[in-house]
Amino acid sequence: MTAADSGFNASPVPDPAAPVAMKLKKSESLTIHWSDGRETVYPLRHLRRMCPCAGCQGERDLLGRTLLPVISTTYDGPITALGAELVGNYAIRIMWSDSHSSGIYSFSYLRQIEPLPGKST
Ligand SMILES: [Zn+2]
Repeated sequence: MTAADSGFNASPVPDPAAPVAMKLKKSESLTIHWSDGRETVYPLRHLRRMCPCAGCQGERDLLGRTLLPVISTTYDGPITALGAELVGNYAIRIMWSDSHSSGIYSFSYLRQIEPLPGKST
């Protein structure tokens, strides 16, 4: 790595896509407008189920099935979001109504789990 090389890389590597606007409907969905023009609507229940934190992901077995929670993590009421905040410039964190907030949703992860348009679940 020479000084000339680093001079060429003055700007950070651009992410494939970053949100330009986010709209949180606290009992419904999170809508993200991406820098590449795409708009994605994430139902909150989908986002909560896909929480990337170790605690939630750790409850899945090797086939990707979610095991029944053993402890008091069961929450049968409607999942709502109390709020969301940016984490650095690469992710968002969502505070859930079941008092869970340790999931960091990176933008690239959000692009991976975006619901397929036109396919209702
Ligand atoms: Zn989690």
